[in-house]
Amino acid sequence: MNLSGRTEVYGVIGYPVSHSLSPVFQNAAFSFLGIDAVYVPFEIKPEDLREALAGLKKARVRGLNVTIPHKEAVVGLADWVSQEVEAIGAANTLLFSEGRTLAYNTDWIGFLRSVEEIVDLDGKRVLLLGAGGSARAVAYALKRRSCQVYIWNRTKSRAEDLAERFGLEVVGSPEEILGSVDLVVNTTSVGLRDEEKLFNYDLLTQDHVVVDLIYRETPLIKAAREKGCLWQNGFPMLVHQGAESFRIWTGCEPPLKVMKRSLRGYGYPTDSPRTPLKT
Ligand code: NAP
Repeated sequence: MNLSGRTEVYGVIGYPVSHSLSPVFQNAAFSFLGIDAVYVPFEIKPEDLREALAGLKKARVRGLNVTIPHKEAVVGLADWVSQEVEAIGAANTLLFSEGRTLAYNTDWIGFLRSVEEIVDLDGKRVLLLGAGGSARAVAYALKRRSCQVYIWNRTKSRAEDLAERFGLEVVGSPEEILGSVDLVVNTTSVGLRDEEKLFNYDLLTQDHVVVDLIYRETPLIKAAREKGCLWQNGFPMLVHQGAESFRIWTGCEPPLKVMKRSLRGYGYPTDSPRTPLKT
């Protein structure tokens, strides 16, 4: 890194943000391609967002990722938003260009690129668990692939909102539809701390593909592996959404293998998506 003043600065804004793994793989990518740039976390409270963004822009930061809780609020602070941001209602990538703030969403394409590493999504029947911020990007992505999407959420009214926005069908319980879907996607935060289950995981069969956006082996992923399902946790999506941000900022092809390899020490899965749990 050359800190002569020409080093480009990128980062991630969130609150909290110290746990973010984005600096690990974004810095690995810059370094691998010999790009004189650095990527750092910026912890910004919601009430400081407007002022902080203006300051980062003035300080000539080049681009940002945006994480919880700012993904929706940044939309209203941008000078231009992509059509995907408009459809999803949230942005996770900002580019500062000629004094303007441009907002993009790469969560949806990150989801598609990661899941399509293990399964063809076209026309699949999908059970979507959750109706928070990430569920919106996933719902948008699934509809882009003409999937039939059934949504369940703890708070039914939020599922109904998403269903109306994206053309999904609300179900009263996951068990109601599980037997007739190909893919189960968990976008809730259940599983982060081994909490209660979202449904009876014994009902999974080896014909289900199971995707969990959480970056660890959750009880859902563990159950999927025990049943011999194709599975994927949140690490591949994390890398793919970041890779698409990298492409927007730099115009360069992101070095995906390098990005993935840099996360091996942080839990990026090395098992194949068909590897059952050893008992
Ligand atoms: P969010 O907007 O806060 O939504 C949280 C969701 O979890 C809501 O649907 C909420 O239901 C549900 N939930 C929370 N506690 C629950 C419980 N005890 N039982 C049932 N449902 C519960 O969060 P988000 O931004 O969508 O993120 C969700 C997860 O996805 C996080 O763990 C995040 O780290 C992960 N994520 C991963 C990636 C990736 O790249 N891999 C990208 C984005 C997010 P209610 O509506 O009923 O509250």
